Formats: sequence, structure tokens, C-alpha cells
Amino acid sequence: MSWQQRIDIALAERREKGQFRQRRVNQQGYARTLQIDGRRYLNFSANDYLGLSHEPRIIRAWQQGAEQYGVGAGGSGHVTGYSAPCAALEAQLGAWLGFPRALLFISGFAANQAVIAAMMAKGDRLFADKLSHASLLEAAVLSPATLRRFAHNQPDALGAMLAGNAAGETLVVTEGVFSMDGDSAPLAPIHQLTRRYGGWLMVDDAHGIGTLGEQGRGSCWQQNVYPELLVVTFGKAFGVSGAAVLCQQDTADYLLQFARHLIYSTAMPPAQACALTAALACVQQGDDRRQRLAQNILQFRDGAQERGLSLLPSLTAIQPLIIGDEHRALALAERLRQHGCWVTAIRPPTVPPGTARLRITLSAAHQSADIEQLLDLLHQASLTEIGLPAGVTTHAVGGGAA
Ligand SMILES: *Cc1c(COP(=O)(O)O)cnc(C)c1O
Repeated sequence: MSWQQRIDIALAERREKGQFRQRRVNQQGYARTLQIDGRRYLNFSANDYLGLSHEPRIIRAWQQGAEQYGVGAGGSGHVTGYSAPCAALEAQLGAWLGFPRALLFISGFAANQAVIAAMMAKGDRLFADKLSHASLLEAAVLSPATLRRFAHNQPDALGAMLAGNAAGETLVVTEGVFSMDGDSAPLAPIHQLTRRYGGWLMVDDAHGIGTLGEQGRGSCWQQNVYPELLVVTFGKAFGVSGAAVLCQQDTADYLLQFARHLIYSTAMPPAQACALTAALACVQQGDDRRQRLAQNILQFRDGAQERGLSLLPSLTAIQPLIIGDEHRALALAERLRQHGCWVTAIRPPTVPPGTARLRITLSAAHQSADIEQLLDLLHQASLTEIGLPAGVTTHAVGGGAA
């Protein structure tokens, strides 16, 4: 088969299945509204949970940082790119989250890839929750370790797997808050089990950091769990981008030797670290925003229940409405758009087959009337032929998100 044939077939297959992905240019937008093709919509698809992406204090910090340090790091952190703002931010993150060390990465995707690649050797065992993010599963599949995926949020299923034969080291991987379902992992029992078998726990808290726990310290803090490896990302509640891995001294020194995404890649620009330092302060002082977000979540869930819409049991900003069929999910998203609400239909292979969904995300930036508008539209859609299927399932089926 030629390259051309391979590309043609793959594209045709995606289109037939209703899985063809297209980007849309967001001309101007933030957590509450966005603009596409000249039209404004209410935005229910952003991960900007606290509305910080347009926070003036953070913008100013980025501008001042750029004036003082320039716009780029000028090299890998292992050469000359490890700037004073990056070092200061690492120290602050460590102190804030209670870890001796924090290492900055350009993205959560890179952090997950780097950590798993550096930690896992042949003969090791890696256990990942079935619904783990693609950045985790992909790294796990590429690693020389044996990967097994345990039933979503089920410590018993993990325990049964852990009890099997073990020669090498064991790493258990889960998310604090699951990106497509919005539910939280039971971190305490997972960590206890992991420790019992001499393993390490890695928690990816991309969606928990900033929104959960005291001062927004995230899922681990909220559940009083202290994992061996914690990944936090700054593209969601922090409103910026980038990530950090929190760990012990030796682990950090080890990652600095072997994490190729750090060694062979340009470091985070110092100005971005300045912006992230300001974002961290906003997160730490963000109780008002977190309260506003909690109110919005409650309003949405109560309103959905009143209108007979069944949601997944999520208490977080991620409120998925499972539709099932891909084409139907797309039609519903399109209809919401026609009425001014931007909601993304998430389809396989991002989510398990048969669980295409509207992934509705809420932000502290939403106003009460915005949420009412979305609820009314969903209710109207549920009464029509393209609407929600009768007896919408309340639980995603297993099958994994790879
Ligand atoms: C978004 C996300 C990532 C990737 O983080 P980026 O900083 O956007 O690359 C990793 N893990 C989870 C669970 C995510 O939701």
C-alpha cells in the first residue's frame, strides 16, 4: 500500500465512523465565551476552570517577565535554559504541595511521557486505570514494562492484578480527576494497595490541581494521599500551559539524568514561569473562584436533574452527558451551536466505543443565566428526535480511552 492509499483509507474510515476531527479557529475567547466564524458562543468546552487565562495580574507578570528575561529560554535546562524564574517557581510549587522537589515540563503530555519512559525498565509492571489519559497510556504502551489496565476506579481489580507474579518494580498510574468522566479516583485505597506490594503511585492531577483541596492543592491533598510521583499541569485551572512533576530529592535527580523530554528540549521560557508564579498566587488565593465554580456545578446538576437529564456521577467541573452514538452526539453538539452554546462532542477513540458524549465543562467565569440557557437547550433537544436517547446511561462502559 502506498502512502497515498494509506492516508486516503484512514481518512475515509474516520469520516464514515463520524470520528473525523477538525479544528476550528477560535478568533477570540476565554472561559465564558468564544468566537468562531465571526459568531459568539457561550463556551462550555474550555478547561479554564477558574477563568484565569485572561486574568490581568497574570498577563502583566508575563509581560514584565518578557521585558526582564526575554521571550525564550535560549536552550535546554541542562545547558543554559534553567532560568531564575523557573527555579523559583519549582521551589514554590514544592513548598505549596509538600514535596521536596518539583521539575517543570513544557506540557503535561511531555511530563507523562518523560516520567514513564525514565522510570520503567524491562520486567517492571505498570498498572494504569482503564480510562487514563492518552498521554499516560501511550507512554505505558511504548515503555518496556508490562502494561495492565485495571477497571476504572476499582481498587479491588487493581489488588487482584498486584497480587500476581512480580519480578521487577511496580508503578501504578491513575488520574486525580478523570478528564472525560469528571469523577475522582479513590486515591487512598489505591495507594495503600500499591504500597503493600512495594510499588509506587503516580497521580496525574491535570484536572484536580487548582480546583480541589485547600488552596486548590488538588486531589491528593484533598484525599490526604502523598504519592511517590505527582504530575500537575498548568493548561487547565492555571489558565496558562506547562506542567510540573513533584517527587523526592533522589527521584528528581534521577529524572534530571534520564528524562529525555527535559534534556533534549528547550526549557520553559522564563517569562512563562513568571506568569505561572502569578497564576499560582491566584490559585492559592482563589477561594472565591472555586466557590463560584462549585455553585455553577451545583446549578448545572440540579437543573439537569429537574429536566430529567442524567449525568455521570461527577462532582467536578467536567460534566459529561453520555449520548452513545457518535453521529447523534455530533448532531446534538451542532444543534447547541446553532443556539449559541459551544459544546464539544467527544467520540471514540478518545472515549470507549458506544460512549460518545457531550463533554460539558463549567468555569467560575460562567454566569447563572449561561447555565440556564444550556440546560434549556439540552432539555429541548431531549424532547426531539435528535435528542438524548431514552434512558441515557449513567455510567460509561469499560473499554479504555486509548
Ligand atoms: C490535559 C491533560 C494532560 C496533558 O496536559 P498538557 O499540559 O495539556 O499537555 C495530561 N493528563 C491529563 C489527565 C490531561 O487531562
